[in-house]
Amino acid sequence: MKLYLLWAGTVRATGAPVAAYLIRHEDGDVLVDTGYARSRAGAHEQNPDEPVRLDPGEDVPSRLAVLGVDPAGIRHVICSHFDPDHAGNMDAFPRARFWVQREHYECARSGSVPRLERFRALWDLPEERFVLVDGDREFRPGIELIESGGHVPGHQSVLLRPPGARPVLLAIDAAPTTADLAADERPIYPLDVDEARVRESSRKLARIAREENAVVVHGHDADQWKDLPVAPRAFTM
Ligand SMILES: [Zn+2]
Repeated sequence: MKLYLLWAGTVRATGAPVAAYLIRHEDGDVLVDTGYARSRAGAHEQNPDEPVRLDPGEDVPSRLAVLGVDPAGIRHVICSHFDPDHAGNMDAFPRARFWVQREHYECARSGSVPRLERFRALWDLPEERFVLVDGDREFRPGIELIESGGHVPGHQSVLLRPPGARPVLLAIDAAPTTADLAADERPIYPLDVDEARVRESSRKLARIAREENAVVVHGHDADQWKDLPVAPRAFTM
């Protein structure tokens, strides 16, 4: 199993990455999140309110192309959640099934998280395209899905146990920076929907990281990511 961190655009307010992850597994490639919409590449030049700086070639399908991966060949995409910096290119993976927590899927479909409505066209695909997940479960050997809601209902993180290497916990937006593993002291961000669950998920991820002796990769941490090996390099610690 090999992991690649994809830096797929930059959050303008913080300089943090928009992140996606490619897992090259012996049973086939798995993508985690699809990044910010490739149709917005260059939009920041005209629009001062565009939240993400995405230059041509930085979007997730382009990052995959550099690794020699054809989006049409990807059969499985794990979705952390449907915010536009995570679910912006689902249309680029025509043969994939999307693994999402049932709670998140149902909540998004119900319209109860208003910010997801604006970008509904990006994620609201026919139901048969999805695999709905209930809580923590093994996705395949060495890859676990970890329910970590709070940022949005049914957010999920991913735990990797590569054979012979240290486990890696992709916290994504349940703990977007290193400071967020301190459950009681961590900041609550404007887009976090449920403070109590945010703190509970931080506690859970910190416990898993400790028990597994895992490296935690945070979803939007400018300081951490400046020192991480990103694609086209493989991730090793
Ligand atoms: Zn995010």
